[in-house]
Amino acid sequence: MQLPREVVVGNNTLSMIGDICKRLGFSKSAFIVTGPHTRNVAGKLVDDLLDDAGINVEHIIVSSSTLWDVKAVEEKIQEIKPQVLLGIGGGTKIDVAKLSSAHQNIPFMSVPTTASHDGIAGPLVSLKGLSKPYSEMAHSPIAIVADTNVIAKASHRLTASGCGDVLAKFTAVRDWKLAHEVKNEYYGEYAASLALMSAKLVMKNAKVISSGEENGIRMLLEALISCGVAMSIAGSSRPCSGSEHLFYHALDLIAPNLALHGEQCGVGTIMMAHLYGMRWQRIKETLEKVGAPTTAQELGVKPDHIIEALVQASTIRPDRYTILERQKLTYDSAEKLAKTTGVID
Ligand SMILES: [Zn+2]
Repeated sequence: MQLPREVVVGNNTLSMIGDICKRLGFSKSAFIVTGPHTRNVAGKLVDDLLDDAGINVEHIIVSSSTLWDVKAVEEKIQEIKPQVLLGIGGGTKIDVAKLSSAHQNIPFMSVPTTASHDGIAGPLVSLKGLSKPYSEMAHSPIAIVADTNVIAKASHRLTASGCGDVLAKFTAVRDWKLAHEVKNEYYGEYAASLALMSAKLVMKNAKVISSGEENGIRMLLEALISCGVAMSIAGSSRPCSGSEHLFYHALDLIAPNLALHGEQCGVGTIMMAHLYGMRWQRIKETLEKVGAPTTAQELGVKPDHIIEALVQASTIRPDRYTILERQKLTYDSAEKLAKTTGVID
């Protein structure tokens, strides 16, 4: 079980980054992975703060997040041999940092500038060009430093998407339990409870999260971080990723780059919750409350894309048993499901 040693969430926590690095024994050198935009949002500031703390710091700007970017970062790691790698940005920059540091066997720190999904805290990476169309294990961050002041300034769409990724745990945990019952798969009650608690807290606090105020952002960040820890405890993405994530992967293959990860997972959760006979309306209402999409139109995809993705979802990852295995969807039953839940007209 790999867990972060320091998790620092709050207002102006970036100012503590030099101390945090030193406390973890990284007093000599650090290497920052950031994007062109996130460099201005936080990357440059962290660079200066580490420099002030007497830490030798270099940075690389990656404008995309492909395996080529991972390779470029790895080459730089081999060249400058830093003690720690910092991933500063939204999900993708952190994924590039996570995977390259895992390959090069050096610790990495996660410094998210958005609260858009649980990859900011967990051990998995999801990058285009990996051999599989779903997330792979890399390693957990040694520390997470999330500055609510910075994250509150990000687009609300990203925050709403983060809520979708947390609400997904309602069905992910059910799928995990089902796989345990039917396939005798390992099921960890502690990890499952932790993921479920995060989803319940986001549901309960939807209003304050939607306000964009700092305490709402903090609540969502804590939920996302707990989800990341749940995956670290489980040693897999099981507590956080079930049939609703399979629907996301399928939809993202059929209609690429139209909607965010958490947005698609949120819509998937509504439909998978219906398959389980859960109170799917509550999930839908929560998504509406936080301003996340609940329909094909709001996702920016065609109704046919939704139906196709529902049918394809179970083929994405044959080793992952979910409700979609027990209740195979045809085009007709998928259309009916999407219509009943109001995802399509
Ligand atoms: Zn996710």
